[in-house]
Amino acid sequence: MTGRPPKEGVALRTGAAIADPAGPPAKRRPDIDLSQCSKCQGCEALCPEVFCLGPGGYMEVADRDEYPEAAIDEAIAKCPEDCLTWLNTETTT
Ligand code: SF4
Repeated sequence: MTGRPPKEGVALRTGAAIADPAGPPAKRRPDIDLSQCSKCQGCEALCPEVFCLGPGGYMEVADRDEYPEAAIDEAIAKCPEDCLTWLNTETTT
């Protein structure tokens, strides 16, 4: 590791949210690399309130103010295609 903190919008594997020492904690949401996703729906089985197979035939992530971290961390760990990550998004004020 270079010691530089990840910037907003950088996908992370599991771990704590990146906090900006000058502001509120960064929000994060799950993100699916659809180019790698096999649509096995394993993430949906583990966390149906967040993941679903959408009408267009691709996995979708629900828009929520907060996400169940433990269930999503488990889905990330068990994703057979390794295409599920946390994505840091804009901070809230
Ligand atoms: S577990 Fe991974 S490969 Fe399976 S549907 Fe979810 S994101 Fe796609």
